[in-house]
Amino acid sequence: MVVAAHRPTRLLISRKAIAHNLTVVRQTSGCRFIFMAVKDNGYGFGLLPVSQAVLAGGANGLAVAVLDEALTLRSAGITAPILIMSWLDAAYAGVCADQQVMVTVSSLAWLKEALPYLDGHPPLLVSLAVDTGMGRIGCRERAEAEACVAFLQAHPTGFVYQGLMTHFADSDTVETDYFERQVTRWHVMTDGLVKPPMVHVANSGAAMYHAAEVPTDVIRIGTVVYGMEPSEGTIRPDDYLDQIERLESELIMVKKLPAGEGVSYGHTYVTPTDEWVGTVAIGYGDGLSRRLKGFSLLIHGEKCPIIGNLTMDALVVKLPGPLPVHTKVTLLGEDGGQRLTLTDMAHHTGIAPWELSIRFAERLPRVLVD
Ligand SMILES: *Cc1c(COP(=O)(O)O)cnc(C)c1O
Repeated sequence: MVVAAHRPTRLLISRKAIAHNLTVVRQTSGCRFIFMAVKDNGYGFGLLPVSQAVLAGGANGLAVAVLDEALTLRSAGITAPILIMSWLDAAYAGVCADQQVMVTVSSLAWLKEALPYLDGHPPLLVSLAVDTGMGRIGCRERAEAEACVAFLQAHPTGFVYQGLMTHFADSDTVETDYFERQVTRWHVMTDGLVKPPMVHVANSGAAMYHAAEVPTDVIRIGTVVYGMEPSEGTIRPDDYLDQIERLESELIMVKKLPAGEGVSYGHTYVTPTDEWVGTVAIGYGDGLSRRLKGFSLLIHGEKCPIIGNLTMDALVVKLPGPLPVHTKVTLLGEDGGQRLTLTDMAHHTGIAPWELSIRFAERLPRVLVD
């Protein structure tokens, strides 16, 4: 993968904003331990920069989806607790044990399959998952969860029963019926079950909106720390969070087009009159959605709409007049008292903010600031 360092386009990530959002989460949820979700390249903001910033900013551990993410963090020298939240092939149990990576386990069959792979390794940290209504991973029956706990306790040289978790399908909407059904099922599945040191059930929505109803001693959280409001503003506006990112580029060419000229592939935009336009050094190859056509970027605090189709490496904006080449263009962040957020882009494109952020391409340089 190539990072475009020789181009005036940057994704700046604010340590201060991340630390602020972590503080908000800690105060609202009353949690003691935060597993920060850094899966999928830190929700697109960059696995290593985000991991460094969150650990410095108050997170206690990191949560990933796949083993390779965990190994990348360990290779980078990160010694904090790491949890793999998704399914893992039992054949990798030994690697995880060696690297002190906690794995999520959903069945007795998995534990039995993993045991021989743990010969000669330190005990594997296990977080047992119960399915309370997500329907994805986790034991569905209480009897299976009990059998897993018994197996873990019977094999102390193979395993450490470290965690117990579930995941909510619907914790960030105004309608709470489905959430409450999952809480009820959590009690049916786990009341009276032997509890490990870490019981972790809350994601962003549960930690921010349901802290009184579920255990929040340990939480797994991503969205809000990245500055994105989980309800996309339907439960509360996002003003309690700090925006962590600034996406900036520059005008690389400025020209005056006469009336009746088509702009970009397909000529979907035709200048209605003489018009000043500017070319910006970022395109859909950087992960921007092509649905951003018509979305306004900020130049000196003024809104400049993207005209015509985005191309892979560049896009064209309508300018208020002639501006010098190298003028800064803000795609996300503040400029001149105006602000653009991923939620604004989500409203324009119909794509969720976190789905927009995970699309940020490898080629965009991520730079930690503050
Ligand atoms: C991604 C993920 C989280 C974090 O969810 P947010 O809504 O981003 O806070 C928590 N738990 C599991 C199992 C996840 O996959």
